[in-house]
Order: sequence, then structure tokens, then C-alpha cells
Amino acid sequence: MDYTLFGIQGSGKGTQGKILGEKIGAAYFETGGELRRLAKEDSELGKKVKSIIEAGRLVPNEVVMEIVENFIKHLQKPEQPIVFDGIPRNGRQNDSLEALLKKNGREYTGIYFELSREEAENRLVKRRICSKCKTVFPAFYSEKDCEKCHGKLVTRADDNADSIRTRIEIFYKETLPVIESWDKNGRMIKVNGVGKIESVTQELLSKI
Ligand SMILES: [Zn+2]
Repeated sequence: MDYTLFGIQGSGKGTQGKILGEKIGAAYFETGGELRRLAKEDSELGKKVKSIIEAGRLVPNEVVMEIVENFIKHLQKPEQPIVFDGIPRNGRQNDSLEALLKKNGREYTGIYFELSREEAENRLVKRRICSKCKTVFPAFYSEKDCEKCHGKLVTRADDNADSIRTRIEIFYKETLPVIESWDKNGRMIKVNGVGKIESVTQELLSKI
């Protein structure tokens, strides 16, 4: 079974997705990370991705799908599960992703980490990043320095209130309809995103 993570920015879906991925031995697909990895690869697809990135262009939907298909083909074994993070973001991407998963005989379901808008904004404003190693720390991490490299923690530049609100608007406008359609089709596991990391993980694992 493949899992697709959904949640507003700050919902902790990435953190939970990585825990889940390790637990079930899944391959983790994160669009940005996969693009950066491919751009370094000496392959046809790698060269294509590299030229798009270097031109500063947005990666077109059909190339994103090519990347997903390439990812499926390179699994350790075909039955290895995949955890998708950050895709699909909108209705158009959703249509092509579902078609692709079906074509490849993948069984899949979504996981939606529910969090109120207020809580999401609050978490995003308060989270910080290590100025040296770039690790992101959630709002409840209270130390002054990074626990990994002792670098100084600073507020993320893109975490100012306006850009946070813009990202949240896009989530409600473009991603929420996708979540609702998956839910209607019985393909959505809902997890309460409020609370400590461990308790959210516990609820998640009890539902899959
Ligand atoms: Zn650090």
C-alpha cells in the first residue's frame, strides 16, 4: 500500500511521514528532494530536470509525472510501499497522479493530518531553523542552539506572516478539494495533527 500525505503547512506531515516510512520500509518520495537528486544524475531525465532548474522554470506537471514513474520503476522491489510527500498539490496534478498509480497497479490511500488554520499559523511563525546545518525546529523546541551542531537558531526567512498566509490560502484553495475528493472515495485516513509527535504517530499507526 502506498500512502500520500496531506496536511496544511506546519501540520507535521513530513515528520510523521518519515517515521511511517521507516516503520513500513517504504521509499520516500518528496518532490523537491527528488528533483535535486535527479539533477545530479547522468541520465536523460536527470539532464531534463537540470536544464529546467537552471533556467529557473517551474517543473511542468508532465515532467513531475515522469519523475514519479521513474521512481516507481527504481524501487528495490515492485511491492515496496511508497510514501508521497507534497504531491498531489492541486486537482490537475491529482488527476494525473491517480491515473499513473492505477496504470502501475499501485494500491494507495491518503493520510490527512488535520490542524486548524490558527494552530498552523501559530506553529509556522514560531518554528526556527539552524543557521549552520539548516535543520528545522518546531515551535515547542525551546533551546537556543541546534542540538545537532550547536549552530544558532533563527526564524526562517520565508516564515513571515504574509508568506505564511499565502501558502495557507493556496492549501485551502487548491489542495483541500483534492483531500475532500479522496475522502469521498473512501481513500482517506484522518489523523489529529494536534499534540506531541509521539501521540500523533501512535494514532497514525493505529489507523493504517
Ligand atoms: Zn545545526
